[in-house]
Amino acid sequence: MSDSEQIKCGAPRCEEVIEDGYEQYSNILDVVICDGCYTSDTEHASAITKFSPDGSVERIILGDLVAIGEYGDPVDASSWKREWRASSAWRGHYDTIFVSGWTEVEEDLLLWGERTEGQDLGVKIQTACEEGTLPCEVSVIADPTSNLFAQGISFWVRDADAMTFAVWVKGDAAYAGATSR
Ligand SMILES: [Zn+2]
Repeated sequence: MSDSEQIKCGAPRCEEVIEDGYEQYSNILDVVICDGCYTSDTEHASAITKFSPDGSVERIILGDLVAIGEYGDPVDASSWKREWRASSAWRGHYDTIFVSGWTEVEEDLLLWGERTEGQDLGVKIQTACEEGTLPCEVSVIADPTSNLFAQGISFWVRDADAMTFAVWVKGDAAYAGATSR
């Protein structure tokens, strides 16, 4: 095989020559990438889980290179914007938001081994989804941070459901304040 026939990984800063049969595809950048980049991207990806009132749960993995469903099927990533926010050369966190149509209703930092409000809310949502009592669709976005033991978590509902969700979480107290904490 001559040099001109070699396929190089299209991920930024990689350029690894890809062996025949080991091509992976970045559906976000629309380029062929190497196995190493694919694995690294999915390991550092954000996880988006959508809970629906009918009990269904949809999971998406969103990286910088690939956006895939739970069975590895490619997913259109244009609904979200995902950015790395650096607080120093080695520290920072990913921040993923819905581009439009959805409102962030809660956010929290989940710490390993610690019980937090976000965790309690996550359990409440999951249980209601299983029981078929969730009042509206809720998307939960888990973003990795440079701290292995912490991840950012945010809760989103469709714009029109923000008040419904607030009342479901806080009861009548929701009417007295904003829809978010
Ligand atoms: Zn690569």
